[in-house]
Amino acid sequence: MCSYGPMSEAAAQALRAVKSQPKATLLAVDFDGTLSPIVDDPAQAYAHPDAIAALGRLGHHLGTIAIITGRPAMTAVKLGHFKEMTGLESLVVLGQYGAERWEAATDHFEAAPEPKEISEVEDELPALFAELGLTGVRIEHKGRAIGVHTRELDDSQGAFDALLKPLRELASKYGLHLEPGKNVLEIRGSGIDKGDALRRLLADTGASQVIFAGDDLGDLPAFEVVRELRDEGHPTLLVCSASEEQDALAKISDLVLDGPQGVAEWLTELADSLDTAGAGSR
Ligand SMILES: [Mg+2]
Repeated sequence: MCSYGPMSEAAAQALRAVKSQPKATLLAVDFDGTLSPIVDDPAQAYAHPDAIAALGRLGHHLGTIAIITGRPAMTAVKLGHFKEMTGLESLVVLGQYGAERWEAATDHFEAAPEPKEISEVEDELPALFAELGLTGVRIEHKGRAIGVHTRELDDSQGAFDALLKPLRELASKYGLHLEPGKNVLEIRGSGIDKGDALRRLLADTGASQVIFAGDDLGDLPAFEVVRELRDEGHPTLLVCSASEEQDALAKISDLVLDGPQGVAEWLTELADSLDTAGAGSR
């Protein structure tokens, strides 16, 4: 069931603008927790099939569809089955918060060099876990970032709290940045975030209206960019994939949907309405 309260007038206007000028629209979507459900093993977080099918249909209408994720771009491509989906030929996947870029049209992949400090931090983690008496913490090496996952521990929140301060200190010792998420603490280079990634994409595509959907604190910089665009008069829509674990985005979103299932249903509704509008204009 896809349900949400009444939208603000600005959001309703933005949705009308998307429907009347779909080619001027950039739809940018986070991956984990927005297109795919959060699961214990991040390697198994496959995108919701209905969401991917809807994106394939939306690809025929909208100017650009992009995935902006903290994951390596090619991991998202695999977990989203983005290479196989028809309609997504113009898809752009920005991985590692924009440090990596993959284009469906050309299958071209490019990446900024990996900072050596990431491996140096990773080498220090086992000793830190031992010092804190933590076992079962999962380390996810992402190249330009490290995810420290506490989800599988009996006392996930306790471990998260115990790790927060020492990991922040460790990150700052190497000039890196700590980003807390849902049962995950991520260490990555400073100055790389989804807001920067979104700005570059807007410059590349020339899109004048934006829909952005996300679920976690790492999406906040992109939300801020979208809000600035609205202040400048651009039609914009902020969509939150809500969860019990994180509600920071819900308060500042135009649409609050019930997790990846709600996002899949809403994207399907949007595809339906654009198909209908397109049929009507032929
Ligand atoms: Mg997410």
